[in-house]
This record gives sequence, C-alpha cells and structure tokens, in this order.
Amino acid sequence: MTTARRTHTAVLGGGALGLTLALRLAQRGEPVTLFEREHEPGGLAAGFRPAPELPGGGPYLDRFYHHLFRSDTAILALIEEMGLSPQVRWDSPKNMVLWQGKFWQPYSAAGLLRFPPLPLIDRVRMGAVLAFLKACPNERPFEGHTAAQWLRRAMGARGFGILWEPLLRAKFGARADDIAMSWFWSRIHCRSFSLGYLDPGHQALYDRMVAEITRLGGTVRLGTAVDEARLVGEASAGSRWSVAWRDGTGVTGTSRFDRVASTLPVRVGARIIKGLPSEWVARHDWGDAFGAHCLVLALDKPLLPHGAYWLNVNDPGYPFLVVVEHTNYAPASMYGGRHLVYLGNYHPMDHPLFGRDIDSVKAEFLPALARVVPGFDTSWVRESWMFGAPYAQPIVTREYAARIPPRRGPLPGLWIGSMFQVYPQDRGQNYSVALANRLAIEMATDAPGRQA
Ligand SMILES: Cc1cc2nc3c(=O)[nH]c(=O)nc-3n(C[C@H](O)[C@H](O)[C@H](O)COP(=O)(O)OP(=O)(O)OC[C@H]3O[C@@H](n4cnc5c(N)ncnc54)[C@H](O)[C@@H]3O)c2cc1C
Repeated sequence: MTTARRTHTAVLGGGALGLTLALRLAQRGEPVTLFEREHEPGGLAAGFRPAPELPGGGPYLDRFYHHLFRSDTAILALIEEMGLSPQVRWDSPKNMVLWQGKFWQPYSAAGLLRFPPLPLIDRVRMGAVLAFLKACPNERPFEGHTAAQWLRRAMGARGFGILWEPLLRAKFGARADDIAMSWFWSRIHCRSFSLGYLDPGHQALYDRMVAEITRLGGTVRLGTAVDEARLVGEASAGSRWSVAWRDGTGVTGTSRFDRVASTLPVRVGARIIKGLPSEWVARHDWGDAFGAHCLVLALDKPLLPHGAYWLNVNDPGYPFLVVVEHTNYAPASMYGGRHLVYLGNYHPMDHPLFGRDIDSVKAEFLPALARVVPGFDTSWVRESWMFGAPYAQPIVTREYAARIPPRRGPLPGLWIGSMFQVYPQDRGQNYSVALANRLAIEMATDAPGRQA
C-alpha cells in the first residue's frame, strides 16, 4: 500500500537536503511546504555576492569554500536537471601544505615521491597506504579503529606526524584522537583530484530549486524558523502534525500537516520535535559537532605562491587551519578583478571566535597571513566578510554509526533525513542530495525506513 498521494508534508530546513526532498515531493504532485530559518535557501552551501557592481549583481561566492568531486554523482545529476551543467568548471588546482615555513605539494603520487621532508622509505610506505585506501571498496575493514591509531601504525609515526596528524588536530582539536578511521577512508576513497565548481555559486542551484518547487505548486517559506512540531492528539496512523513557526518580522503561527520530514541536524530536530520516545532520544540525541568559521578577503593581488588553491597550515601557531585562494581556481575576472581568499576554521560551537567582530578577527588573522606569505600587506585587502555556522562539522567517532537514527521516525508520519546520517561520510552536498532522493522514494512507498 502507498501513502495517500495528496498527503501534505512539512519539510524542516532548506539546505541541499530539504530542498531536494521538497523538489521530489512537488514533482510527484504532492503538497509540500518547506520552512527555512534563513532568508536565503542553501544552508551551509549558501552564498553571497562579492561583486555587486557587476551586471545582475555578479556571481555568488559560497560563504564557506565548496567544490565537487567526480564521484558526486547525485548532485551532478541535480545540477544537470536544473540546467546548470554548462556552468560547472572542472580542473585540478594545486593543493599544498605549509610545513616548517615552506610550501610543499605532497597530495599526489608524484608530489609525495618528491616530498623531501620524509625519507624515501616513508614516502613509499605512505603512498602504498593511500593506494590501499583508494582501492578498498568500503569502510568495513576500518570499523572500530580510530584514524590516529590506524594511520600511525600503517604509515609510520614520522609520515603521519608531518602530514596527517596536524590536519586532524587543526580540524578536530581535542577530539582528534577520537575520529573514526572509516571517516578517513571515505575522504581518500571517494574524492577525485579533479575538482568541480559551479561558477555562479552553489546558491544559484538552490535559488533555482526554490523557483522549481514553487512552479510545481510547493511552498517555500524562507526566513521562517520552526520552533516546534508535535502530533495533534494521540499518536495513531491518521494523526496530523502541528508545526509552530516564527518569521523574521516576529509573526508567529501554527500550521497543520499530514507528515513532517526533518532535515535539521539530528540534535536540533530532537529539541524541536516534541513527544519523541525517551529510548529514541537516549540513543540518537547524541554526539558532537563543530561550527565552521570563515574570514573571506577580497585582495587587489593574488596571494599564495605557486598559484596554490588550497593550503593546509600544518605549522603550529596560526589562528586558521586552511587558506583557500578561490581565484587560483575560478578566475578573478569573474569577480571584477577581486582575488578571493578564505581563511577557515572549525571549533566547538561555544568557541569565542564565533562571538567576535570582524575587525578584531582581522587584527589577529592578517599579521598571521603575512607570516604565511611574506610580502603580503594589509593594504591589499579591498573588502572582507565573515561567516560562522553551527553544526557544520560532525565529529565522526567509532560509536557514531550505531547512533544514527533510522530515516523513519519513531512517531507516525515523521521522517528524518539529516547530514548526520551520511556515514561514513561526515557531510557533503552530494550525500545530502542522495539521501533526499532515497527518502523521497521511501516516503512514496511508505517502506520501512531501513538504515543503510
Ligand atoms: C567549511 C565547509 C566546507 C564544505 N565543503 C564542502 C565541499 O567542498 N563540497 C561539498 O559538497 N560540501 C561541502 N560542505 C558540506 C555541505 O555544505 C553540507 O554537507 C551540505 O550543505 C548540507 O546540506 P543539508 O541540507 O544536509 O544541511 P544544512 O545545509 O545544514 O541545512 C539545514 C538547514 O536547516 C535550517 N534550519 C536550522 N534550524 C531551523 C529551524 N528551526 N527552522 C527552519 N530551518 C532551520 C538551516 O538554516 C539550514 O539551512 C562544506 C561545509 C562547510 C561548513
């Protein structure tokens, strides 16, 4: 038996996942209303316009650096469906690392072999380990191991200590030793050297999806946060849902739906959805996530030597963990000649960085950038922007998989599709899109939501 075709679904959250789910429901002719707290759709992949003087306001730039991989088949298919494929550029920009004050390029087989800080035997050993991870078809051999223990043993302490341990420490701080090896496997196995970027910004994809959902008769309520969702009356097969919302102007309201699909971080959903069974909460309202922070600079000149796109900062003592020069990938001419650079960080969500103003952050970060790139001068900075987002980096530990909630929620008409379910990946637009596609099929057939 299938669920009634005309059941009205409330989708909570308008990032990649919520928008894809709402699109699929609308394409089937089902009534759907999506609630997104922010005024723009796109969630973590939303953008801003750094060159507003250009015709049409110029392209978007993602608030946080994003690219696509060749293996990102679900989002690439969606981009094609939305008619944006011709605007995806593919290239293999330079990924480098700052180590002992110098720039190195060890992230390819040839680059690793030419990486003098490591003795040849360690380079060969690390190359063999990375080739093994690339070839291994799934994460199962790595379950139960932490990345730090497994990699140190497999690669040797020297190689791990120079190239990978600083990355884990910079990204996960005090949680670095807890990160699961299955997560590390997914980073190596699923990623291509060739990177894709949607030139008008990923925001353009999400704007187009909103237009398409609306054209198909769905409703997208931007700038409208959901405060609470609860079943009306006793839980039974025909129960309806009451969704309490609040828009940016302070207007509040309550709307009724047949189903609710939450695409929020699981822990956020667990607070908003009332009446969840205590055993479900005990098992799935669990785990940590870090927030993401980016200072974005528009410079008069190119910054990184060697035309590097991505620079991992493996040396200690810097206030950011990565420098991404977007315009060493997409051309600066696309942005009115601005050279666009991200200085990125992940931190626990209560970290003071998230509460600071942009001037104080620049006062700390710009002198540090001058240590990374001697010759950089603060007079190069034409404009700057700063973004922070909570629940941006799930902390994938060995226990993580067992805590992922099933997609079918524990209450009638409740479905859960969240970035926090894409294990062994930690996140990625592609995985949110793929999960939404799957969820839409399950919601149509009302099949029991099995966990993949
Ligand atoms: C620094 C950084 C770099 C990244 N790099 C890449 C990359 O290179 N490639 C890639 O593919 N992915 C990348 N990602 C990951 C990618 O952005 C996410 O995986 C993806 O955007 C997640 O989409 P989502 O819809 O699952 O979740 P989200 O984008 O988190 O969407 C959830 C939405 O729910 C909304 N919401 C929250 N509370 C409420 C409420 N109460 N009511 C209504 N709405 C609410 C939020 O505003 C948000 O829009 C990166 C992320 C970060 C932070």
